[in-house]
Amino acid sequence: MMHTQSVTGVDVVVIGGGQAGLAAGYYLRRAGHRFVILDDQPTPGGAWPHTWPSLRLFSPAEFATLPGWPMPHWRGGFPPASHVVDYLTAYEARYDLPVERPVRVTAVRRDGPELVVEAGDRIWRARRVISATGTWQQPFWPIYPGARTFTGRQLHTVDYRTPDEFAGADVVVVGGGNSAAQLVAEISTTASTTWVTSRPPRFLADDVDGRVLFRVASERAMAIAAGRPDPGGPASLGDIVMVPEVREARDRGALQALPMFDRLTRDGVAWGTRVQHTDVIVWATGFRPALAHLRPLRLREHDGTIAVSGTRALKEPRLHLLGYGDWTGPGSATILGVGRTAKSAVAELDFDD
Ligand SMILES: Cc1cc2nc3c(=O)[nH]c(=O)nc-3n(C[C@H](O)[C@H](O)[C@H](O)COP(=O)(O)OP(=O)(O)OC[C@H]3O[C@@H](n4cnc5c(N)ncnc54)[C@H](O)[C@@H]3O)c2cc1C
Repeated sequence: MMHTQSVTGVDVVVIGGGQAGLAAGYYLRRAGHRFVILDDQPTPGGAWPHTWPSLRLFSPAEFATLPGWPMPHWRGGFPPASHVVDYLTAYEARYDLPVERPVRVTAVRRDGPELVVEAGDRIWRARRVISATGTWQQPFWPIYPGARTFTGRQLHTVDYRTPDEFAGADVVVVGGGNSAAQLVAEISTTASTTWVTSRPPRFLADDVDGRVLFRVASERAMAIAAGRPDPGGPASLGDIVMVPEVREARDRGALQALPMFDRLTRDGVAWGTRVQHTDVIVWATGFRPALAHLRPLRLREHDGTIAVSGTRALKEPRLHLLGYGDWTGPGSATILGVGRTAKSAVAELDFDD
């Protein structure tokens, strides 16, 4: 018989201990709530230890700051992912946030006035749950004809580490966002690289970096809060931030995108009758919210998201969603932006039941 350990005595369970979970923890502590943060990774940092090592933020450290304590300055320009990991590690220690890891939450269920959070043989009973599980565990792979026929290597952004392993190969990078552009910039230094996108890439102006994007996200949040028309998020300006590596790749002509191929062959990709030999396909095609643990609550809409008002799930008002993307608050999938949304999520926790 399975031994079940029941842990009670918390008002709020936060699922996920990345930047969003920590920002929630900061405000929960300030509000005096009893809470725990459950994270399935062995070490702090959320998604950041899983990015490719050369990834840098698209803004200076001062613009990648969680509530309370700024990210320490990085002298060499925009900080690398390892600096973010160090910061998040120090942040949770500084505020003595009660993070338990590794704890993989497998289900959240309703049980009378409480929500029950299950992780293996452990159970937490909570009055409110904040889900902040991010996206990195749900890489999105579009399906194209011939995907199983292709005998070369296929990998997703989340599997990518360095360009050295592709030296001399014919590589196709798929995707129109920042990851794709940065991977093309990097891989094209060692391999013959083709970039394909389903619509023409939209480059931001050279002087638009994270600072401008955060300002636009803030203006949007303020307009929505004041009941004014939504002026549109940063995506209205373009998609791709011209970080130095991407600018350099553009200047040497490596950022010419082709339309998306229509099928894979045994050893290539094809547009109609035109076939191009390919050893490796890198799918830089994004991620989806990691929401499998919420399945028992039956909240998902057709587009895979959960309908929210602010951060509160419409079909389960005891549940808040934090950090997954603009649908849970403007800029809430960024380090600076999530603080504002975490603050309002904690303020919106309503224990009147
Ligand atoms: C290529 C790239 C570049 C980026 N650059 C920037 C940038 O320059 N500036 C910026 O601000 N943002 C940037 N971002 C965006 C953003 O900061 C990250 O996506 C961020 O990691 C999201 O934080 P999060 O806390 O919401 O999720 P995560 O960091 O993914 O944290 C969620 C945590 O929950 C855990 N978890 C998942 N499921 C469960 C479960 N069932 N039970 C328990 N734990 C679970 C995860 O393992 C993880 O530890 C970038 C993102 C990418 C992909």
